[in-house]
Amino acid sequence: MHELTIAQNIISIIEDELQQRNKLACQVNKVYFNTGRLNAVVPESLQYNFNQIKKERKFTQNAELIIKEIPITIKCEDCQAETQIDEPVFKCQNCSSRQIKVIAGKKMYIESMDIE
Ligand SMILES: [Zn+2]
Repeated sequence: MHELTIAQNIISIIEDELQQRNKLACQVNKVYFNTGRLNAVVPESLQYNFNQIKKERKFTQNAELIIKEIPITIKCEDCQAETQIDEPVFKCQNCSSRQIKVIAGKKMYIESMDIE
């Protein structure tokens, strides 16, 4: 369900974007979508849902969704080290402190798209 909602959001963002540029008649070839690991999006599921609904709109009927997962990056408030973590185990990889701030891996957004 989560992924279906995201897929619907992606399509409506594309629609707004095309509308603003007066390009609703164009075909979108590729959509580059970034999602931080903290969002726990399953790329295969998002891809599947996107492919299910993309044909409902003319501008996305042939669009390919390219998903990039952004690792979780944390910054330690004790030693200032910036490290990447795979799992949500929130401690500094350098000194093991738990005084950390998440500085990347939370957001999801469309990075760019190729329009015909
Ligand atoms: Zn540290």
